[in-house]
Order: sequence, then structure tokens, then C-alpha cells
Amino acid sequence: MVERNAFIGGCDGVSVVKNAEMIGEEPSGTMPHALILLMGDTVEATKAFDEVIEPKVKRVSLIDTFNDEKIEAIRVAEALGKKLFAVRLDTPSSRRGDFQKIIEEIRWELNLRGFDHVKIFVSGGLDENRILTLNPLVDAYGVGTSITNARVIDFAMDIIEIDGKPLAKRGKMSGSKSVLRCTKCFQDRMIPFKKNQGRSNEGVNRCPCGGRSKELLLPFIRDKKILWDLPKPQAIREYVLEQLPHFDL
Ligand SMILES: [Zn+2]
Repeated sequence: MVERNAFIGGCDGVSVVKNAEMIGEEPSGTMPHALILLMGDTVEATKAFDEVIEPKVKRVSLIDTFNDEKIEAIRVAEALGKKLFAVRLDTPSSRRGDFQKIIEEIRWELNLRGFDHVKIFVSGGLDENRILTLNPLVDAYGVGTSITNARVIDFAMDIIEIDGKPLAKRGKMSGSKSVLRCTKCFQDRMIPFKKNQGRSNEGVNRCPCGGRSKELLLPFIRDKKILWDLPKPQAIREYVLEQLPHFDL
């Protein structure tokens, strides 16, 4: 319903394959950070995308994974030339300080080198007010959260470790993590995942309040077998009521 309504409301395309099928459109999207993280370089990933993906898909290079956006924009433009349709910046709002300035710089540097045809595509936590301020510089937007008409749970899926080696895009903390919840004060803490202890280091970690911390992320299915019995609604309700005094409403 979200993508259907966004499309009816004037958006140019939708990205979820099933949704596009249901409204009779071709789904569209650009390369993910995952591709660049796995290949280790923006230009290499863009060239691989260009080699493999059918020609009707526009070449949009994601330029904010590892290095300065301006330098990456020049590198991919020089590598792809006329074939490059756009560059995309998908920058978390935490790094938005001089976002407008960065885009101005990219436009300037691309034009100076004869890449006037390369469009600028922006995504990541945008709303209508932000779009109005960026309109003089930006050609296209990818919008998710703020266009939905249902209440949303905002989350992102990111690669943070490859073959045991911590690696993440800028603005994200790398490495596997454990999330611990104190059984006394119910505060959550995130710590680096300790491989030798596995996911069951219950009781090993103490909360600053002195309470015992419990691992929140536990395997639920292994080898096609469900490992835990789901508690009865009554038991879950009891747990909810136990936690309630510790939260501000
Ligand atoms: Zn505690």
C-alpha cells in the first residue's frame, strides 16, 4: 500500500519487486553499499555493475561508502564517462552538517571536467522540507520513512563484518555486536561480540547497576529445529508488567 500510494501520488518508481509487480511497473533501484563493501572500491563496484546489469538500467554509482564524496564522484565519472547516469549520496543524518556544501562541490567538480550530464541522486532520511532546500542542486531523491502512511519502525540493514574482519560504511560502527539487557534495571548495552563465548555469555557481564546482564540476541532456529518454546501470553504479559516501571511513557 505504501509504494502504491507513493506511485499514485507522483513518485517516479518503486523498489520492492512484488510491489512493482502489483502496480504493473518495473521495479527500480541502484547499487547497494553491500556491493561496494564486498568489492572494496567504488569504481571497481560501479564497473562490475556496468558489466553485468542489463543496459536498460541506468548506471547510478553510490559514492559515499569509503572516501570523500567529491573525489569518488570524479573517479566514477572518469571511469564510466558518458555511461554514468548519476551519482548517489546516501548519507546518514548524523553526518549531514555540510551536506549541501558537499553536493555543491560535487556539481562544480563534475561540470568543470565536462560531466554536466551526470545527475545527482540523494537518499537517506529525507523529508519534504529537506528536499525543498536541496532542490536547486539535486536531480532525484530516494525516500522511504517519511513517505509512509503507516507508523514505521525505522531500521537499516548494513554489512558490518566480512569473513570475521570488521568493515562498515562511514557513519556506522563496524564488527559483530552483542546486545545485553540488565535483568535488574532493564537498560540495554551494546558490546563487541565475543566469539569465544558464543551467544551465551549470560551472567558474565555485569550492568553498571550491579545487575546481571542477559544476551538479547539468541539463536531461535538451528538445523531446521526451533530451539526455544515460545512463552505463553500470560508469561510474556508478566514480563512486560515487570519492565514497565523502568520506562518513561
Ligand atoms: Zn542494570
